[in-house]
This record gives sequence, structure tokens and C-alpha cells, in this order.
Amino acid sequence: MISHELAKGINQQMVFELYSAYLYLGLSAALEKMNLPGAAHWMKMQADEEISHANGFYTYLVGQDAEIELETIQKPEISADTPLAVFTAALKHEKLVSKKIDKLAELSVKEHSFATLVFLNTFVTEQVEEERNVQVIIDKLSRIRDNPSALLFIDAELAKRTLSPGTAAV
Ligand code: MG
Repeated sequence: MISHELAKGINQQMVFELYSAYLYLGLSAALEKMNLPGAAHWMKMQADEEISHANGFYTYLVGQDAEIELETIQKPEISADTPLAVFTAALKHEKLVSKKIDKLAELSVKEHSFATLVFLNTFVTEQVEEERNVQVIIDKLSRIRDNPSALLFIDAELAKRTLSPGTAAV
């Protein structure tokens, strides 16, 4: 059994993961419009992964016999108009996710909910990888500037991403 406050925090995270999926779906659509199908695929995989994260939080709440509240999922604001801007927006978002996961871990410690802390462990370590994966793509996109051949090469690399969680794409 977990406290009402902790259950509420995990529930909010579940909804936030769904928002993340929604944001990445929008970023994927933006990449499709830029005629970058490989990058769009990478971002769509990212969206799918966020749904699996939401499922993880849902399952944990059910296992703890906690209340599930399906809150409103915010509409993402997408203004990125270059591939670099898209991945920069993704990194900014992942950093926000990391902060939220850390806050939950902090609350688990405060409440001595070690089961929750162990459950969150995967998410804490995965955030390091999530941020790193996006940063590597940003570094490459920054380096090529506006070289179209190099952009097509990166797009082909990003097309190789598979759904297994934590798989580095490039
Ligand atoms: Mg996530």
C-alpha cells in the first residue's frame, strides 16, 4: 500500500508519460512534413515507448491497489521548424521528465516507500540514456549544418531504430 500523495504523484506521471507520447507524435508529424521519414520513425518509436512507460505506471498503481485517475492530457505546442529544433525540443522535454522522475524518487524516500523506489529505479537510469540518445542526434545535426547529403545519411541511420526500450538509435 502506498500513500495517497505518492499514488497521486505516480498517477500524474502516468498522465505525463501519455502527454510525452502525444508531444513526440506531434514532433514525428513535423519531421514527416520535412520529408525526413527516418527521423519521423525514430520519433514515432519514442512516442510508442512513452506509452509503454505510462503502462508501467498504470500497472504499478493497480498492483498497489491505488486509485487510477484519467486526467486530461494537455495539447502539446509544436513550433519546431527544422530537424535540429525538433530534437532540441525533445531534449528539453526529456530533461523535464528526468526532473519529475527524480521528484517521485525523492517522495518515495521521504515516505519510506522502498518498493516504489525500486520500481522507479528503471526510470531513473533510463532517463540518463534518453537524454544521451537525443543529445547525440543533436550533436550530429549541429555538425552537418545545412548539408543535404549528410542530413539524408542521418535520416537513414534514424530509420533503423527498433522498439526495444533503451535501444540507442545512432
Ligand atoms: Mg518516458
